[in-house]
Amino acid sequence: MSADPDCIFCKIVAGVIPSRKVFEDDQLLAFHDIHPWAPVHVLIIPRQHIATLSDVQPQHQALLGHMLGLAPRLMKELGVHNGFRTVINTGPDGGQEVYHLHMHVMGGPRPWSKG
Ligand code: AMP
Ligand code: ZN
Repeated sequence: MSADPDCIFCKIVAGVIPSRKVFEDDQLLAFHDIHPWAPVHVLIIPRQHIATLSDVQPQHQALLGHMLGLAPRLMKELGVHNGFRTVINTGPDGGQEVYHLHMHVMGGPRPWSKG
């Protein structure tokens, strides 16, 4: 599976950098964001290195569906029962800071610190 040795999320996938994992399978990993904007803030990432949503290819369709479908399941498991927000930042103008595809999933009672 493709990995970028300089990518912080590839290092999390490899277990070189620790994370507070909430889910993992053969394709995806989900863990708590280190700087949460909301009471519950997790990131869902593919194990393989895909830099941005703009780099997604037709063969990644099922992977994207799996990422999206995991969001409501995780929120339920983490006690979020009143709605949540999903965000994918893409590229410089999209505010992307980590160039390994990830979906933010945020929930919990408002107010939130951001978003
Ligand atoms: P983005 O602006 O969409 O690229 O967001 C990257 C997110 O990754 C930010 O919300 C960061 O707080 C989060 N982040 C960066 N490094 C880590 C890390 N080591 N563990 C967990 N979350 C991280
Ligand atoms: Zn990566």
